[in-house]
Amino acid sequence: MRVLVTGGAGFIGSHLCELLVKANHEVICMDNYFTGSKKNVYPLLHRPGFEIIRHDIINPIDVEADQIYNLACPASPVFYQFNPVRTIQANVLGVTNMLELAKRTKARILQASTSEIYGDPHVHPQREDYWGNVNPIGVRSCYDEGKRVAEALMMDYHRQFAVDIRIVRIFNTYGPRMALNDGRVVSNFIVQALRGEDITIYGKGEQTRSFCYVSDLVGGLVAMMNADNFIGPVNIGNPGEFTILGLAERVIRLTGSPSRIIFKELPLDDPVRRRPDISLAKAKLGWAPTIEIDAGLERTLDYFRETIKGG
Ligand code: UDP
Repeated sequence: MRVLVTGGAGFIGSHLCELLVKANHEVICMDNYFTGSKKNVYPLLHRPGFEIIRHDIINPIDVEADQIYNLACPASPVFYQFNPVRTIQANVLGVTNMLELAKRTKARILQASTSEIYGDPHVHPQREDYWGNVNPIGVRSCYDEGKRVAEALMMDYHRQFAVDIRIVRIFNTYGPRMALNDGRVVSNFIVQALRGEDITIYGKGEQTRSFCYVSDLVGGLVAMMNADNFIGPVNIGNPGEFTILGLAERVIRLTGSPSRIIFKELPLDDPVRRRPDISLAKAKLGWAPTIEIDAGLERTLDYFRETIKGG
């Protein structure tokens, strides 16, 4: 099959491209390199069947594909708030462009949606039938509302034009190839611990997140893309839930770092609790994560040690 991966040079996208190339698909990796990096796909460049296109999906493009994974969008709060208008455009114009492409080529399209759909949730853990609690005018809304519009567009193209869609709600994911300056909690804590710098907890660190190792996550994406008679939305994430303070202590323990924990101001609209209910993924896809947090963090630490050493 020919598979288009938008955001293919990003953290999750590059792991997905690798898996698809290994499965002998022809892979077109598309990226504008705002947060992605060519380095992430260097090892794939010489592989037959792998090609790369520099393109921003907010502009239309015509390529032939059987399947489209639409991952293109900055996902770290630091980066999606850097140019919020552009973030909304990626989710409205970009998703429309990809849906038009899917409509014309009759490709199946999978949208990388997000747990941010649920905002600061009143229901815990989050199930797919929960409509969420999102501030429509806040600093996170460029991403949250953008991704909600993207889901609405997916469903409308499906109902109106019978486009073959899949919607996956991705919860916090970590692993090798996260950018050093990504700004998210796992990469920040690891880089700070390895450099012996202060570990920055925003707020009191009582807020929770659930962290999924990237190989588990991309396995879930592929399972969903190839599922029959199930369009989602489906949560893909690891239900193990940790406080941010607990994560900081865990990273210090695993690294043996002398770093101190310091407390900084909590960003606006930062969700208090987050954990996926993954019963739907288990029932419909036979999918569940397999990598425990310490094992995943060890692998991630190895990557960051190498990356920091290499400058
Ligand atoms: N966070 C933190 N220190 C950091 C980065 C993030 O305490 O250096 C907190 C952040 O306020 C949030 C959680 O960790 O409560 C997860 O943040 P992240 O940006 O990784 O992802 P989010 O789930 O908020 O999109």
